[in-house]
Amino acid sequence: MKTMAKLLDGKQLAQAIKDDLTQQVAEMKSRLNKVPRLVNVMIGHDSGSCAYANSQKRVAEQIGIEYELKNFPETISQQDFRQAIIDLNKDPDVNGIMLHKPVPKHIDYHTVANLVGIEKDLEGINVANIGKMLLGETNIIPCTPQAVMEHIRSTGVSIRGKEAVIVGASGIVGKPLSILLVEQLATVTVCHIATSEAGRLQEHVGRADILIVAVGKARLIPGSWIKPGAIVIDVGINRVDGKIVGDVDFDSAQEQASFITPVPGGVGPVTVVMLMKNGVEAFKLQNS
Ligand code: NDP
Repeated sequence: MKTMAKLLDGKQLAQAIKDDLTQQVAEMKSRLNKVPRLVNVMIGHDSGSCAYANSQKRVAEQIGIEYELKNFPETISQQDFRQAIIDLNKDPDVNGIMLHKPVPKHIDYHTVANLVGIEKDLEGINVANIGKMLLGETNIIPCTPQAVMEHIRSTGVSIRGKEAVIVGASGIVGKPLSILLVEQLATVTVCHIATSEAGRLQEHVGRADILIVAVGKARLIPGSWIKPGAIVIDVGINRVDGKIVGDVDFDSAQEQASFITPVPGGVGPVTVVMLMKNGVEAFKLQNS
């Protein structure tokens, strides 16, 4: 009989990190008489963004962090939106800022992202923080790559010298994750659309001791491609027939892997907690 992979339970991992942050925040409160205050800046009322903001709020409250959602109308001008970010940067009572996507077409996301103060940049989107991450000089690291690293660490398997293959090379997941894995001395391959077009995705996936998939295509990776004993982290979120599924075909992958994240309930819950961890790091930086 085949052995099944161990499930990497995101809710359980998130709870352990939440407990640690709750303790840190309580200690800050008794020592400094204040707690981190985070502001989520959102334009319009995209339903996915609102649901994500609600879960951020719930997690912040559980930890004892103050959380505010600042909602701006779709018609806000680039100039007014820039000013809103600048005002939040100047406000000493705001410790962290997150900028919710999507933004309307007339708002230049990257220009505004670079206005988020580097000490308040909860998602690590300012180019200065991206540069610092490359040099290993910051604790404020994009949340999803951090969540993936937490899942890998939770297996207890050493990353050093392992073949890590990332499928998906976006600026918020694949690329920053490649830097974090190199820092831990994995040998890293990053696959993207051209890898698939060249017909070489299966070959790369099959070499992975640690496989991370962040594409957004339901069941792109069948279990038969996966190296026996691999650690599989599925970042993808896809809605199929009213159900949420990942980028990896879970049932067949579970028969090959040693550890695997479910979707939902894997990377997602840890990502939200990583945002709070960045808030706590930002608060420490501003109060050190
Ligand atoms: P993007 O669309 O920004 O990036 C997708 C990447 O996958 C690109 O590098 C793209 O290459 C590559 N790609 C597309 N098709 C293929 C293919 N057939 N073979 C190989 N590579 C391919 O997506 P995101 O990084 O923002 O998100 C990826 C997924 O992760 C989504 O499902 C998203 O919902 C989910 N997600 C989950 C989070 C969580 O916390 N659980 C957080 C963030 C995202 P190219 O650009 O060259 O086309």
